[in-house]
Parts: sequence; C-alpha cells; structure tokens
Amino acid sequence: MKTKLTENLSFLKPFLKGVGRIVPLSKLAHIKDYKVQKGLNKRAQASCIKYQKGYDGLNGKYGINLLTQELVDNGRSYRHQTLEQILINLSHELAHLKEWMHTDKHFKLQAKIMIHFSSKLKELNIKDHNISINRLGRSK
Ligand SMILES: [Zn+2]
Repeated sequence: MKTKLTENLSFLKPFLKGVGRIVPLSKLAHIKDYKVQKGLNKRAQASCIKYQKGYDGLNGKYGINLLTQELVDNGRSYRHQTLEQILINLSHELAHLKEWMHTDKHFKLQAKIMIHFSSKLKELNIKDHNISINRLGRSK
C-alpha cells in the first residue's frame, strides 16, 4: 500500500486493506493525525485536501487529516478519540476520493466503507469500537 500513515495512525493499516475496491485509494498520498493546540478553537474533526498546483509529486492527489486528540476539562487536557469516531470520520473523508461533493452518492460510499470497516472489526477481533485509540496496538 502506498498511502503513508503517521505513526499514531498506524493502527488503521488493516482497515484500509480492501478499501481500494470502493474508492480510488491510489489517489490518497497520506493520512495524518493532529490535535488542536491549547488556546485554539477546534475547527473540524477531519478534513480532506485535494492537492492542485505547486506540490511536487502530489498534483491530483489527496491528503486526509484526522483529529486524534480532543481538548477536554475546559480546554486544559487532552483525551484520545475513540476508534468509532476515527472510523466514522475516516469513512467520510475517504468517500471524498470518489465523490468530492456532499451528495447522496458520497453518503452511499461512506456507508459502504463503514460496512467494510465493520468486517475489519470482526477480523481483528475488536469487540468494543468505543475503545480509546491510544489503547490500540501500534503498527501491523
Ligand atoms: Zn466532507
């Protein structure tokens, strides 16, 4: 697989296997994690960027960013996202690889990806998808 994942998201590798049959995964250059720095407002749970001009080797490719740590306790400390939230956000952003607008087609693609993820949960024997992502094993 060519899509690069940041270290903190390496647990997503087995989930991505097979997604290429639903959306063009070959167009996805990377998936990166981020957290909102203290004192700043959270803008989004996730985003998908389409690289146009001026990005060497990335023209026409996509990048996905996922919020992995949320500010809690009135903005004083961080809490890791749950696997469920990450997978929901990721399925939404992955659907953009094929359908850029928020149409019914996009929603249907997202649903297909969610079903794919559900079979991965079973394969990986993850019985509770409400688990915090920092409790998942790194890299596989
Ligand atoms: Zn969207």
